[in-house]
Amino acid sequence: MNEIKILYPQEIIQEKIEELAQKLNKFYGNEEIYAICVLKGAVMFTVDLVKHLNMPVKMEFIRLSSYNGGTTTSGKVNAVDISLPDLNGKNVLIIEDIVDTGLTAKFLIDFLNCNFHTKTTKFCSLLDKKSARTADIEPDYYCFEADDKFLVGYGLDYDGYYRNLKCIGYIENPE
Ligand code: 5GP
Repeated sequence: MNEIKILYPQEIIQEKIEELAQKLNKFYGNEEIYAICVLKGAVMFTVDLVKHLNMPVKMEFIRLSSYNGGTTTSGKVNAVDISLPDLNGKNVLIIEDIVDTGLTAKFLIDFLNCNFHTKTTKFCSLLDKKSARTADIEPDYYCFEADDKFLVGYGLDYDGYYRNLKCIGYIENPE
């Protein structure tokens, strides 16, 4: 296994998630939302975030992929499973692990706009790698602005490993 340098310890991640949940509780009030978790990376973030939300929440899970299995994106987003209920007139909160180039976020927002007239669509991401952005998109909410390093842990993987780490870090010299 590779050596992981810790960037965000467990306690800091949880603090930031609670802060984000407070903002979302304020924004939505008692309105029902559809929380859409983008698998697999956002699974840890989603389950921790929704526990702090006070409004009625329906959870949905979709699966996209753009990575080649290592540390490079293919530059093309594939919808592995994007079956969703009728979201017309609904408040939709997309929950992602990280916005990197922004292609996935753009793909998802375009997909929702093409298929539904939602009441609101908001995009939240645990991490925002602003310096890597190529698509013209910004998350509405994020917890951490990250450097352009390949991050792992807390849902983020390298070749399928490290998703189970409680912290987020980076691999200094990925094999
Ligand atoms: P984007 O389409 O914004 O380039 O990338 C989105 C997806 O790429 C994320 O949901 C995530 O799965 C993957 N990704 C981007 N940067 C990283 C990273 O630093 N580490 C890991 N493990 N995945 C990343």
